[in-house]
Amino acid sequence: MYDSLQLSKITEKLVIKDDLKKYYRFRPAGFYGGIATADTVGCNLRCKFCWSGNSVWNVKNTGEFYSPEDVALTLNTIARKKNYRRVRVSGGEPTIGKNHLIKLLNNIDSNLLFILETNGILLGKDKKYINELSQFNNLHVRVCLKGCNLEEFSLLTGAETGFNYQLRSLGYLRDKGLSFNVAVVSLKNDKKELYEKLKDIGLGKIMIEEEEIKLYPQVQKRLKKEGLIDYFK
Ligand code: SF4
Repeated sequence: MYDSLQLSKITEKLVIKDDLKKYYRFRPAGFYGGIATADTVGCNLRCKFCWSGNSVWNVKNTGEFYSPEDVALTLNTIARKKNYRRVRVSGGEPTIGKNHLIKLLNNIDSNLLFILETNGILLGKDKKYINELSQFNNLHVRVCLKGCNLEEFSLLTGAETGFNYQLRSLGYLRDKGLSFNVAVVSLKNDKKELYEKLKDIGLGKIMIEEEEIKLYPQVQKRLKKEGLIDYFK
């Protein structure tokens, strides 16, 4: 078991240098009807079903440092060439390195929608982070909950802390009026407990996606090692 906030700090030291952050790939991707994607390095969770390989598990030896301006320029260029309306950061956790992310958003073309795919932990830890994000009109935040409750969160991620921060981020996003939705990774058939919690937070009508886990060979191997393959099958 580990503390996700402590892992955030350790990871930040490895993937952030001043305003630069590590990335390992830039690409057009088919999700959301076409989206320019920058794959970053480093995460504050270790989800056992994660499709990212070295970018999460071998941070030191993966990727290179890029300025926020360079990342934005590459995303803007891919989007323009492909005629996309959306851009994102994937591969790791984009909220690690707040200054980098804010500067990146400042340099994204205002006619492009930036989809911030996050586990929400750092947003739930620091309300001011969401205040800073609220200055951007071309931002949509997709918070992916890892499990229906703390027990499942810990089973899926191996972390003892983080689930409550995930939930807290949703209330902060609502308070600041940001555009956001919730995605859930859960193998539980009965998600009533989670839906009750979301109701208690007072999110009103909000889109909830159930994220499908793709069992790539390296994911299957990890799940087998962790004794979780039957849970996923
Ligand atoms: S939060 Fe996302 S990137 Fe991080 S380990 Fe989990 S699935 Fe992978």
